Amino acid sequence: MSDRRYDTVIRGGTLIDGTGAPRRAADIGISGDRITAIGEPGTLTDATSTIDASGKIVAPGFIDVHTHDDHALLSKPDMAYKASQGVATVVAGNCGISLAPLIFEGDRPPPPLDLLGDGYRFPRMADLFDALDETPPALNAALLCGHSTLRVGAMDDLDRAATDSEIDAMREKLSESLDAGAIGMSTGLYYEPARAAPTEEIIRIAELLGPAGALYTTHLRDEGEHLQKSMEEAFTIGRASGAKVVLSHHKSSGASNFGATRESLALVEKTRKTQPVTLDVYPYDASSTVLTVDRLAASKRVIVTWSVPRPDIAGRFLDEIADEMGCSLEEAAKSLLPAGAIYFMMDEDDVQRVLKYPHSIVASDGLPHDVFPHPRLWGTFPRVLGHYSRDLGLMTLEDAVFRMSGLPAAEFGLTGRGVLAVGNQADVTIFDAATIIDRADFQHPTEPAAGIDTVFVNGRPVWRDGAPTGERPGKALRRQAMQSARAETQE
Ligand SMILES: [Zn+2]
Repeated sequence: MSDRRYDTVIRGGTLIDGTGAPRRAADIGISGDRITAIGEPGTLTDATSTIDASGKIVAPGFIDVHTHDDHALLSKPDMAYKASQGVATVVAGNCGISLAPLIFEGDRPPPPLDLLGDGYRFPRMADLFDALDETPPALNAALLCGHSTLRVGAMDDLDRAATDSEIDAMREKLSESLDAGAIGMSTGLYYEPARAAPTEEIIRIAELLGPAGALYTTHLRDEGEHLQKSMEEAFTIGRASGAKVVLSHHKSSGASNFGATRESLALVEKTRKTQPVTLDVYPYDASSTVLTVDRLAASKRVIVTWSVPRPDIAGRFLDEIADEMGCSLEEAAKSLLPAGAIYFMMDEDDVQRVLKYPHSIVASDGLPHDVFPHPRLWGTFPRVLGHYSRDLGLMTLEDAVFRMSGLPAAEFGLTGRGVLAVGNQADVTIFDAATIIDRADFQHPTEPAAGIDTVFVNGRPVWRDGAPTGERPGKALRRQAMQSARAETQE
């Protein structure tokens, strides 16, 4: 600690504070891990270090609420693919897939659990929290407990409903996870490990969420023909459990369902009047997950992102591979399994409609272990700020920043983050509004974005001059600590 008043002053920038309020000129003072002053330009002096943000936007560090970063937080702790986009905090454990609580000793965990790689070695959620405390990553992390992870741990046959004793075992694991600090439970009802789970099974487990003030996030059973029915199931689970529902990566999938987000967003809007519902969205018309034959028909084209038997074909179109092999798309896909894929199966109008919806949270759903990942892993946030806000005018820059900071912080209960205010954690992103843009695309998926200047996490710079700084100030965010901090500020 120095005896200067501030460790860092960010001077000369234009503040977009994350609440949606209009930008204004202001300087920010940081002491330790907190924002300790926001003042008129030139009024904050006596700093150990000064950052010149002239001509730049100073915003809250972004919050990526839809990630599969569970394992990457430990194995790729500089989190360059997120820090390079201005992200300061991630929520891991989405789509029913969480790294804990599960010990998996077999050859490969069943898809899609293999999207996280092979690190299933945490028998309790508390063990993963401990690991993050002991070897902190560059970014903050909140954790969800995955229903599919619970099923794989509790059941020997995933193709049926859980028995009473299996449900009890899953409840016990979820309860331990919530006690350890998880902010909720995710489901991935579309995926095989959870497909056979009836609504009633999920309700009996999710009942623990409401009393804990925890969330229910869900990759719906069907995002195509039965989108609305699947949403109704999620809302039923939300009502029965008393938990807020988060619809993950909201979309309408498959050409015959293009345009259906008109009705789906109307249903969200109507349901929000009677129960808490929110949603996240990534800004692309292609999805990405494990390669499965049943997704091929609904897709215009498919890119293979990784393949265990054919590592050489990562990044290539499946139709070209099938041509070479002289077989059908289905046969080609089967020969590549286990594998991952990008599916072009959305309509840009739907993507823009969901992005424009005022309650939509911007989030990446990036897959950090894919050999040839979907570009959302490196591009999501700058793409919304540069392409959709600045270039297409889909929303103001203030609104775009709000949807990646203040809004997700409020909806996910991440107290003290997401808004630039005195007393809040010093998670700050400095960017150039004129040049910010994603550079990752479907041919060059790991190009870092342009326009991100500096990213602070808990008062320490983690990204500067186009590279990670090597600092690891990230914190594992526990639900109870955030809830009691919220109760205090509300007193
Ligand atoms: Zn998902």
